[in-house]
Amino acid sequence: MSMIIGIDLGTTHSAVAVVDAGFPLVLADQNGKRLTPSVVYFPNDHQEPQVGLDAVRMQTVAPARTIYSVKRFMGRRSDDLSDNEKRVDYSISHNPGEPIKILLKDDAFSPEQISAEILKSLKRTAELSMECSIERAVITVPAYFNDAQRQATIEAGRLAGLKVERIINEPTAAALAYGLDRLKDQSKIAVYDLGGGTFDITLLELSEGIFRVISTQGNTCLGGNDIDQAILDHFLNIVRKESSENVAAFKENSLPRLREAAEQAKIALSAETVVSVELPFLTPDYHFKTEFTRDQLERIASPIVNRTRSHCIRALSDAGLASSDLDQVVMVGGQTKMPLVRSRVSDYFQCADFEETRGDIRLGDSFHESKGPELNTNQNPDEAIALGAAIQGAMLSGQMNQMTLLDVTPLSLGIETFGGLMNVLIPRNSTIPVKAGEVFTTAVANQREMLIHTLQGERGKGQRQLESGQVCDPI
Ligand code: ADP
Ligand code: MG
Repeated sequence: MSMIIGIDLGTTHSAVAVVDAGFPLVLADQNGKRLTPSVVYFPNDHQEPQVGLDAVRMQTVAPARTIYSVKRFMGRRSDDLSDNEKRVDYSISHNPGEPIKILLKDDAFSPEQISAEILKSLKRTAELSMECSIERAVITVPAYFNDAQRQATIEAGRLAGLKVERIINEPTAAALAYGLDRLKDQSKIAVYDLGGGTFDITLLELSEGIFRVISTQGNTCLGGNDIDQAILDHFLNIVRKESSENVAAFKENSLPRLREAAEQAKIALSAETVVSVELPFLTPDYHFKTEFTRDQLERIASPIVNRTRSHCIRALSDAGLASSDLDQVVMVGGQTKMPLVRSRVSDYFQCADFEETRGDIRLGDSFHESKGPELNTNQNPDEAIALGAAIQGAMLSGQMNQMTLLDVTPLSLGIETFGGLMNVLIPRNSTIPVKAGEVFTTAVANQREMLIHTLQGERGKGQRQLESGQVCDPI
């Protein structure tokens, strides 16, 4: 049976892994790099697009033709996006109700087409390393991706010439990588995954090679990019204070340069306590220079990191567990390298019990101290997901058979009933595959047709239409 590669198609970085002679490993590209920036540059002259580091180099030179963070647009419509999410240095379409398009001067691309370029490049890396042609892949997505976002990922794979054998959730993949050497263990773990654009928290039970997801929670629009944006706003305030004209006088590439400096400062402050940020000639007559400290960064980042807390509590609540029931919290995603994130997550899970009052989850005052789970930072936060995807690929191709994965549906599924209500047929966190049925009556006697409106999500904003079709037979 042919090889199935594992792909972590990330918002900021992507990686490809395989299981070779029983060992999962992330493959390096021709430059020896195992992480490919998820950036695509389209040259002016309709030449082949460039992907990865080559594209990153063009980001400040040709920002309008260099596409980054495209994952946040996958399977989404213009009106699904907040203003903050739409803030990118290239143009996107803004037609309410229509899928987002990425606009270049003379062309328009779907997010799937852009993602396909990244996938093609990873496919090529795998083919060169393994010296064979590759046609099958497992691709990971954030656990909290809805059906439209998952279908868009499958379509991107198809456009790249890959048969997507399975889409698996990123934290579940990370758990497979973590659990590979612990097949004899019985434990409960949480995977806390904070990447560039998405956040997921997943609770799993590992029992003699069976990986059972108990609950999953997350936010597909929360990640390191939000911290970069907040630092950028802080830098822009400095520019404004120094000269009111400078922001207006920004050239096309000034903002991308400042954004890049914001992210670099954030990364440097994971190791240092202070950095000096200098951008000579940000505008023809303005040099940007400032000292930026870890304290300042933590003040800026704190509200963003804290937004992950309620998801952690809700995941525990959904699972009916207290944090003291967990053995480990496995940290994955590049943003978990930030010391603030590690200390906050450790704090969240030290507070043992959650309490549910009147349907709301109360944070803080109802906690009492007890020993929480250990923070596990041993997994390489950048590679665990791709490795897990490769392990799932090997399980599907029969190369590995000592593990079983039982995943859940992250969002509730149901149909719309009279009065515009969603009737949930499959509640969130049901183990899949799952089948459900319920008898409904028509609103009017002898009704001959009806429109069935399939919905996914929890009540309120997260809910969206999956598909609708006419059922002509009377029910
Ligand atoms: P994604 O899965 O969304 O592609 P990654 O897991 O690659 O994301 O994480 C990327 C995020 O991690 C970016 O926001 C990046 O700035 C951040 N990051 C990477 N390394 C560090 C570090 N050493 N310190 C702080 N943040 C980091
Ligand atoms: Mg990731």
